[in-house]
Amino acid sequence: MHVVPLPALADNYIWLLHDDAGHAIAVDPGEAAPVEAALAERGLTLDAILLTHHHPDHIAGADSLRQRHDVPVYAPHDERIAIATHRVADGERIALSTPRARFEAMAVPGHTSSHVAYVGEGLLLCGDTLFSLGCGRLFEGTPAQMLASLDRLSALPGDTLVCCGHEYTAANGRFAQGIEPANPALTTRLQQVASLRAAGQPSVPVPLASELACNPFLRIDSEALAAWGHRHHVDDRVSRFAALRAAKDDFRG
Ligand SMILES: [Zn+2]
Repeated sequence: MHVVPLPALADNYIWLLHDDAGHAIAVDPGEAAPVEAALAERGLTLDAILLTHHHPDHIAGADSLRQRHDVPVYAPHDERIAIATHRVADGERIALSTPRARFEAMAVPGHTSSHVAYVGEGLLLCGDTLFSLGCGRLFEGTPAQMLASLDRLSALPGDTLVCCGHEYTAANGRFAQGIEPANPALTTRLQQVASLRAAGQPSVPVPLASELACNPFLRIDSEALAAWGHRHHVDDRVSRFAALRAAKDDFRG
């Protein structure tokens, strides 16, 4: 499967997945035009749309794409996503014949209450739950919910490619570096991100193993984060995660 991040809106990525026969899936189309352009340019047929959560920058292009291509739209159980044709719950499997692909929906509440991720084909399509070097803001969930969601994502195989909804990596990296300045894996990743971005390339997808080594929100149980928590008088892991997320909310890097 070819995995193509399509830049959209200010800093979103729509993920276009396609096989060699020209069958494609669009994930979180916040606008239709970049998908239509990529389909035309690459000679692809759109076969399905997957949606992770109800925010307009992830779904606003889905209606136009569905009308034009007559494709199924998979989405979580949430009436705010009126366009859905197939609702998915935690653990539910999606088997597509064109392109031949299997995904499992995983409930990952935190950013929104009904947010799902799709896992399959070696990919983690995680919307605004996990970002490279960061995680989503807690608009509808509690820190405990978001941490439990990230714990589930952390347990996936390390070679899983993280396909997230925004290009936030450089800004997230400045925050991460302040939390863990002595992490050599983070230093290496930041150099990689700087050269990718300077060349106009996306910083994602990125293997989950890299995120486990670099992303402070996946490193709550590390010695470095335990020490950070101790300095901020938050010693249990949920309080530490909540304090870290609050510090990121206040960070102006
Ligand atoms: Zn969102």
